[in-house]
Amino acid sequence: MKTPDSSYPHIVIVGAGFGGLRAARALANAPVRVTLIDRRNYHLFQPLLYQVASAGLSPEDIAYPLRSIFRHQHNLNFVMAEVQQIDLENSRVLTTRGGAIPYDYLILAAGSVTNTFGMPNLNRYAFGLKDLDDALAIRSHVLNQFELATQTADPAQRQAMLTFVVVGGGPTGVECAGALAELIRLVLRKDYPDLDLRQARVVLLEATDRLVSNLPPDLGQAAQRALAQKGVEVWLKAQVQDYDGQRVYLNDGRILPAQTLIWAAGVQAAELAQTLPLALGSQKRVHVLPTLQAPGYPHVFIIGDAAYLEDEHGQPLPMMAPVAMQQGEHAAHNILHALRGEPLQPFRYRNLGSMATIGRNQAVATLFGLHLTGFIAWVIWLFVHLMQLVGFRNRLVVFINWAWEYFRFERAARLIYPMPQVHSAPSTTITPPDEKEPAAVIATIYNPN
Ligand SMILES: Cc1cc2nc3c(=O)[nH]c(=O)nc-3n(C[C@H](O)[C@H](O)[C@H](O)COP(=O)(O)OP(=O)(O)OC[C@H]3O[C@@H](n4cnc5c(N)ncnc54)[C@H](O)[C@@H]3O)c2cc1C
Repeated sequence: MKTPDSSYPHIVIVGAGFGGLRAARALANAPVRVTLIDRRNYHLFQPLLYQVASAGLSPEDIAYPLRSIFRHQHNLNFVMAEVQQIDLENSRVLTTRGGAIPYDYLILAAGSVTNTFGMPNLNRYAFGLKDLDDALAIRSHVLNQFELATQTADPAQRQAMLTFVVVGGGPTGVECAGALAELIRLVLRKDYPDLDLRQARVVLLEATDRLVSNLPPDLGQAAQRALAQKGVEVWLKAQVQDYDGQRVYLNDGRILPAQTLIWAAGVQAAELAQTLPLALGSQKRVHVLPTLQAPGYPHVFIIGDAAYLEDEHGQPLPMMAPVAMQQGEHAAHNILHALRGEPLQPFRYRNLGSMATIGRNQAVATLFGLHLTGFIAWVIWLFVHLMQLVGFRNRLVVFINWAWEYFRFERAARLIYPMPQVHSAPSTTITPPDEKEPAAVIATIYNPN
């Protein structure tokens, strides 16, 4: 039974993503009461969302119920609610359930949302990739395009139906484009023998002159070669200016007819973080002190994608899972230091490496300073992602799915469900149309490094 001592200090954690989950676990044996609040009842492993979108995995394989994760953590209560406001002056959070939850210490780990840089048509017609809803909408929409293509007699329309545009050459865009190309060439080819799938195109648009800019240039080039081998057309220096659901308009005047546009070109801090009366850095992340405290509010810690902090070289820490996890643990330890009257420690990111997979047998990675490509990088990618999934069941199911896919050239989750509203707006929160920013900033900002 969960009976945390009510005299213990109360720590509220908002967000049960990578950062919040780590923070909550780090407080498991401490003499504190923890309330973990999230709008979802599950922890989502976002790095594999693109595999749900490309019919490789099912939603349950990459999500895990929070109540199950924390079943045995006796000092923690989970509240499923949307936090609408953080009242910094009165040390309480206000939720959609109507309640005000007071805190002694707060860890804000609300993550980020898709940023379409104020382009209203992208909000309306493009798909984001930030939550399970987005991934399922993409999966259904992509599969539905093939069904529709079998039923149209108009070759131009068929071509637009079978053109899949991914915007953003960061890891998410690269992985998504590679996975879609393999879905088409290895799996759907067998399902649609009457369609000429040489017509099907996957086009990856990147505003800068290189892919995966968070990795060294040689790995960006390796990623580009691997994508080309898989049939992905990579267009560099291709900046999207508009999309009307039928045509993608580029800054250089090119127009690309396509009925699918997946936007993987930008994120910004969650709205909850943006609304705080605190200075914002790039991607609207909140500037935090090296101890991860909010300036002027020593009882408030902000971590992960919502926080802006620079490393020792003056570079912003990337919006990546390892940063959020390490910060979650660090914030929890700093709170315990504070409770014991000890000095707080500055956060230092231990960067062990970065990686992106392009699909079957192909990945690029930096690991302990080594540059890896091809099969070896792919095996490491598989292992790292498998081990980071929460729950033995999920690891096993994902492993079996990957093995099945590898040996059988199949994708298990090819259901068109729910039926897509063609070109309906994605479910992610996006920049309001009135916050227009110059088109010049529409670049891959997955990772600012
Ligand atoms: C498609 C995709 C692929 C990625 N691939 C990689 C990768 O390969 N490697 C890597 O390192 N990183 C990757 N990332 C980035 C990584 O997922 C993030 O950096 C990481 O999730 C940030 O952790 P976080 O704890 O800050 O936020 P999140 O993990 O996003 O968690 C935020 C949580 O807060 C909750 N929340 C938000 N607002 C509220 C509110 N108002 N009320 C209640 N709850 C709220 C959300 O429901 C969510 O559970 C990827 C991201 C995406 C979208």
